[in-house]
Amino acid sequence: MKKILIVGAGFSGAVVANTLAKTGKYIIEIVDERNHIGGNCHTERDSVTDVMVHKYGPHIFHTSNEKVWNYVNSFGNLRPFVNRVKSIYKNQVYSMPINLHTINQFYGKSFGPEEAKKWIETQGDSSITDPKTFEEQAKKFVGEKLYKAFFYGYTKKQWGTEPRNLPASILKRLPVRFNYDDNYYNDVYQGIPEEGYTAIIQKMLEHPNINVSLGKLFLSEEDNKSVYNHVFYTGPIDAYFSFRFGRLGYRTVYFKEYRGEGDFQGNAVINYADEDVAYTRVHEHKHFTPWENHSKTIYFEEYSKETEASDIPYYPKRLDKDLEILKKYESEVSKLENVTFLGRLATYRYLDMHHIIEEALVVAENFLAKDGHA
Ligand code: UDP
Repeated sequence: MKKILIVGAGFSGAVVANTLAKTGKYIIEIVDERNHIGGNCHTERDSVTDVMVHKYGPHIFHTSNEKVWNYVNSFGNLRPFVNRVKSIYKNQVYSMPINLHTINQFYGKSFGPEEAKKWIETQGDSSITDPKTFEEQAKKFVGEKLYKAFFYGYTKKQWGTEPRNLPASILKRLPVRFNYDDNYYNDVYQGIPEEGYTAIIQKMLEHPNINVSLGKLFLSEEDNKSVYNHVFYTGPIDAYFSFRFGRLGYRTVYFKEYRGEGDFQGNAVINYADEDVAYTRVHEHKHFTPWENHSKTIYFEEYSKETEASDIPYYPKRLDKDLEILKKYESEVSKLENVTFLGRLATYRYLDMHHIIEEALVVAENFLAKDGHA
């Protein structure tokens, strides 16, 4: 049987491991430098409150791809969950993403959808025809005032740079709606695993041909060449090459943890739009499992900062200078044989869980086809 090494036990690695293992043709070793599986999706019950905590920040599963939804659900039950985020700006609570309620509240109006659309058109900067930056995208579609209130401060805190330096694609993740729909996502399927993400990934890895080694560093390709027929690498692309061309820019986040009785904020996620509030948002995790009852609560203030060598990278910044460096690493990747790079860190892209799963399924299926096991 062929031997496969998978570096990283997050969704990317787990999907590939599961898909290959099911053929019965491979022996799979999966290593992760952390002491748990699940990568940044890892969930764990808090021993004090018994609340299921998303250890690396909130993860809400959403997709419009039925195949991906059914796939995830085959490893554990996802219960319906709709993320209805609030945003606090100058001591007032608004609805996020921007919808008719936000617009009416912000401007002190009671517009209907068509009136609001016309109003926002008068606010937007129509001289911007092809928005390239975050700032242009915001100014064009919601206008200066809403931009300054809900996006400018938050984004500066989140990304550590002026929004004019960031690509429009970051803001395109968020809808603007002219009705009262306050669902954060547009996707057809949305939910949260009943027993957390780690249980789902655990299930994916339960196979006699898969061995998981935790707390184990992947050293270099050279060490593995003689042992494994193929390596799937899901760690940071720059780390693979020992940062030979420099470090790619990432934002990381850290949390201040609080516990209490009852309900702290009445909602899973509340964003803080003001620049002078140091954290970006507060998440209270019992609200991610509304089907459970907890008398105690645990919640986190989330802060964002530049990623240093010892930090876990979260958000690829993809500034121009990063993309220049990325090109050099990608050129090295194209020279490698028997190594596949996949996932958020290995491809340096801002991907959600559903993108990751979708891509990992394709990668695994293509590999099997090439290897004659499709
Ligand atoms: N954003 C913002 N204000 C908000 C929420 C989001 O300015 O209240 C911006 C911010 O730059 C963020 C981007 O929109 O990075 C995308 O938001 P999303 O909620 O998709 O980010 P994630 O959940 O991945 O942190």
